[in-house]
Amino acid sequence: MASGGTSFKYVIVGGGIAGASAIAGIRDIDRDGAILLICSEPHLPYHRPPLSKGLWLGKKTVNEIFADPAGDYAARGVTVVTADPAEHIDTRNNTVVCASRRSSTYESLLIATGGSPRTLSGGQAGITYYRYLDDYVSLKKELRPGKSVVVVGGGFIGSEMAAVLSACGVDVTMICPDPHPCGAVFPASLGAAVLARFEKAGIHILANDRTIGFDLTGLRPLTRTLSGQSVASDCIIAGLGIRPSIDIAETAGILCDNGIVVDEHLQTSNPGVFAAGDVARFPYHALSSLMRVEHWDNAVSQGRLAGRNMAGAREAYEHMPYFFSDLFEYGYEAVGDVNTSYDTVEDWQTEYEKGVIYYVKNGKCVGILLFNVWDKCDAARAIIKEGSSRPASALRGAIR
Ligand SMILES: Cc1cc2nc3c(=O)[nH]c(=O)nc-3n(C[C@H](O)[C@H](O)[C@H](O)COP(=O)(O)OP(=O)(O)OC[C@H]3O[C@@H](n4cnc5c(N)ncnc54)[C@H](O)[C@@H]3O)c2cc1C
Repeated sequence: MASGGTSFKYVIVGGGIAGASAIAGIRDIDRDGAILLICSEPHLPYHRPPLSKGLWLGKKTVNEIFADPAGDYAARGVTVVTADPAEHIDTRNNTVVCASRRSSTYESLLIATGGSPRTLSGGQAGITYYRYLDDYVSLKKELRPGKSVVVVGGGFIGSEMAAVLSACGVDVTMICPDPHPCGAVFPASLGAAVLARFEKAGIHILANDRTIGFDLTGLRPLTRTLSGQSVASDCIIAGLGIRPSIDIAETAGILCDNGIVVDEHLQTSNPGVFAAGDVARFPYHALSSLMRVEHWDNAVSQGRLAGRNMAGAREAYEHMPYFFSDLFEYGYEAVGDVNTSYDTVEDWQTEYEKGVIYYVKNGKCVGILLFNVWDKCDAARAIIKEGSSRPASALRGAIR
């Protein structure tokens, strides 16, 4: 039985950046309504991007990554519980029950549970599926210059971790299923240039390769690959993407389909229950499709809007989120659907160092990647929103 029942006007399940941003959204509209923020991690909400960038490079300290650096949630009328995941939502009685059996009622609920890392079959313990502050803290103790790591996965997290750890003097082997890092986003030409940059940094890349097993019993774990390689290292880090954390919504009878399905107001199939951030599958109007976006700007923007709507604003989510990533001296931002399965139009000002890549699906530009090109997200949004068919010659030069 649940105990200690308490009433809140607003309950937020998930203390990631979407949940934290919802507090600001609620307070935009309602200055006093009592808010409960339920976190499964033992930390107050923090930003994840520095976990694979600035923290390793000494550009940020752990204290600087928290969403509210002062941590003074009580002053804003917010009760925070940490290390106590919500386990059950009863939408008939507007109640959330946590693992500790703490029970709370809500008038309006946000589910911002994000995603949990995909794991490898056959090799669980001893592998860090990198996502959480605690992962950073434990790896930071182990990975000094001269230590070695195998990074499994060539997506955003795998690529950023390989680059940042090699910049810290760690000996990195990267196992990449594609011919080059970020294979789902970078066309082959840029991918080859980025691969060359990784190799110049001394990263040993096993491209077009996969893990087939691990021996985690010895002092130095062993990673075996399909191509017949066997790599010993001090640590193994995997970045294999995430699964949206929908269980609590699904068991509550809320419509889920590769995420929690929401309408343009970020409301779920259950009135009064909202979802935002990595877990939410929402109508992306400019692309005329339902999308789930696993990036920081989307989590911040949706969280804020969901908070406003929880407090009665009824505003539509029209924002076209961008994402950003850093690899060595390269940085890039992107808007829309950037996917190498589409045609691409490359417009380099300096080949593979500075330029714009347009992603074209059925003749229309659906995504734009700005490689070392800054402050152009709005220009990119305008082109995607326009939705008209433009020949490649008209795309080249559209953004400078
Ligand atoms: C290492 C790393 C680097 C990144 N870098 C970039 C970047 O450079 N650019 C970019 O655009 N994006 C980046 N991202 C992605 C970005 O951080 C995410 O999109 C964002 O964190 C999503 O926020 P969220 O609040 O929706 O979900 P999450 O961050 O997943 O937060 C959800 C929280 O809810 C908790 N939770 C889950 N279930 C429950 C429950 N039942 N009860 C209570 N709490 C629960 C989770 O433990 C978690 O703390 C990065 C992500 C990582 C991991």
